[in-house]
Amino acid sequence: MKRAGAGDAAVDVIVVGGGASGLSAAIEAAAAGARTLVLEKNAMPGGSSRLSVGSINAAGSSLQKRAGIVDTPDEHFEDMDRFTGAFSSRENLALRRLLVDNAAETLEWLMSLGLCFYGPTADPPHRHPRMHNVVPNSRAYPYCLGREARRRGVEIRLGARVDELLRAPDGGVRGVSALIDGERVQFQARRGVVLAAGDYSNGSEMKQRFRPELAGIPGVNPTATGDGHRMAEAFGAQLVNGEVVYGPGLRFVEPARPSLVRRLPPSWWLGQLMQLSLNHLPIRWFRPFVMAFMTASLGPEAAMLRAGAVLVNAEGRRFTDELAQPGLAIAQQPRGLAWLVFDSRVAQMFSAPPHHVSTAPGVAFAYLPDYLRHRKDLYHRAENLDALGAGMGMPAGALRQAIQAHNAQLAGEPSSKAAAAGRGAVTEGPFYALGPLESRIVITDGALAVNTSHQVLATGGAVIPRLYAAGSVGQGGALLAGNGHHIVWAVTSGRRAGRFAAQAPQRA
Ligand SMILES: Cc1cc2nc3c(=O)[nH]c(=O)nc-3n(C[C@H](O)[C@H](O)[C@H](O)COP(=O)(O)OP(=O)(O)OC[C@H]3O[C@@H](n4cnc5c(N)ncnc54)[C@H](O)[C@@H]3O)c2cc1C
Repeated sequence: MKRAGAGDAAVDVIVVGGGASGLSAAIEAAAAGARTLVLEKNAMPGGSSRLSVGSINAAGSSLQKRAGIVDTPDEHFEDMDRFTGAFSSRENLALRRLLVDNAAETLEWLMSLGLCFYGPTADPPHRHPRMHNVVPNSRAYPYCLGREARRRGVEIRLGARVDELLRAPDGGVRGVSALIDGERVQFQARRGVVLAAGDYSNGSEMKQRFRPELAGIPGVNPTATGDGHRMAEAFGAQLVNGEVVYGPGLRFVEPARPSLVRRLPPSWWLGQLMQLSLNHLPIRWFRPFVMAFMTASLGPEAAMLRAGAVLVNAEGRRFTDELAQPGLAIAQQPRGLAWLVFDSRVAQMFSAPPHHVSTAPGVAFAYLPDYLRHRKDLYHRAENLDALGAGMGMPAGALRQAIQAHNAQLAGEPSSKAAAAGRGAVTEGPFYALGPLESRIVITDGALAVNTSHQVLATGGAVIPRLYAAGSVGQGGALLAGNGHHIVWAVTSGRRAGRFAAQAPQRA
C-alpha cells in the first residue's frame, strides 16, 4: 500500500473493522471476486462480537425443525414488537423485515463455516423457542469467520486504526486513511468501503450528545468508541436513533482469570461435542460448567433489590434508592463500585427456585450458593455487619450505620415505594454481600442511516457513493432490543453489504 500522498495502489473493497459484521462482509466480498482488505484497529479481531454471550434468535432454522418447532419469520417480526418500548415509532421496519427473513439462513451459513449452536431455547416473550446459543463460546465468531476470510484470500491488517474517509471527485468515497504503527497510511478502494466499526457504548462524545446522563458510564467493550459513526458523519452521513442505548446494567466485576468456558478453544470438535451433549443429556450434568460462565458474565436480577438487598459503596455508605436507576448512581461512587448487602431472609430466598440471582434466559439460573462455589471473590458472609464491612475493607462501623439508617427509614415510611414493593429491613444475621458490582453500557443502537442495500445515506437522504455500513454502525434505525438480535444483524448485514460493495461499478 502507498503512503500518504502517494497514488492509487488499490483493492476493490475495504472493510473497516474485524468483528462479526466486518469479517462476514469481507468473506462475501471476496467470494464475489473482489480483492478485499480488512483494517482492524485492535491487536486481535472480534470486537464486541468476541465479548458477547453469542446467542442468535432466528425463526425457521434447521435446529428448530429438528426439535419439531414450527416457526416463521412473520411471527418473529411480530414478536420483536414486544421489545421495542419507548422508541418503537422510530423503527426502520424494512430493516427488521430483512433481518427476520434472513436470520435462519444466516445461522445455517455460520454453521457451514464451523460454528456450533445449542438449542433452540425459550426466550420469552418470543412465542417459540428460537434462541440458538453458540458453543463453546463467542470467540468462535472471529475464529471461524477470520479463518474463512483468510481462506478466501482476504488480507486482515491488525493494529490499523482508520480515522478518515477519503473523498473522490464525485463526492463519494475513494478510500480511507489509517494510523498503523504510528504512521499514516492511505488505502484506496475501487468499488466500496464497508464501515463495520461497531457501536459507541464506550464513546463518551456520542453518549454526551445523545444521552448526556450516560456519558460517564463506561462500555463493556472499551474499544467500542463509535469511530465509524464519527467518520461517516464528518463525511456528511446521517445518524439515526442516537438515544437508543442499552444500560446502564449492573455487572459483577470480571474474575481475575477468565471463566473456564471463555478459556475453551473455539474449535469445531469441541463445539460439536458440547452441542450434542447439551441437546441430549440432562442440563444438570452441565451445571458446574454453565455456572462458571454465568457467574462470570452476568449481573444480579433487579428482583434482589426489590426483595430488600441494599446497595453500598466502598465506604460502606448507602448512596441511592435501589428501586430507581441504581446504575447511574453506581458510576458516581468511588472507583465506580458497589456491593449488594442483604440478610439471611433474602439469602435463603435467593438460594433456590423460583428466586435466582442471575439468569441466562432459557439456559440456566444461578443461585446464591453458585456464587459461593464459582465466585468466592464476590461472595461475602459474616455473623454481623461490622465483620461483613471489615471483610470488604470498609471503614469500621460504616456498614452497620448505613444499614441501621436504612432500616429506620423503612420503619418510618410504611407507605413508601420500597415498602409497597415488599422490601424488608436488613435485620436477620448472618449477613451477606455480593460484589463488587459495576455499571456498564452494553450496546448502543444509534447508527448511520442506510437503505436496504446497506448504502449509507447523507443528511439529505441521497446515497453516498461507494459507502456501505453493516453491523452496529449500519443498523439504520433497526431496533434490536431483546436477546440474540444484534449478532444475527451483524452477520446478515455484513454479508449483504460485502456483496453489494463487491458488485458495485468500479470508481472511474
Ligand atoms: C457483553 C455483551 C454481550 C452480548 N451478547 C449478545 C448476544 O448474546 N447476542 C447478540 O445478538 N448480541 C449480543 N451482544 C451485542 C453484539 O455482540 C454486538 O452488537 C455485535 O457483535 C456487533 O458486531 P459488529 O461487527 O457490528 O461490531 P464489533 O463486533 O464490535 O466489531 C467492530 C470492530 O471494528 C473495530 N474498529 C472500531 N473502530 C475502528 C477503526 N477506527 N479502525 C479499524 N477498526 C475499528 C473494532 O476494534 C472491532 O473489532 C452483546 C454485547 C456485549 C457487550
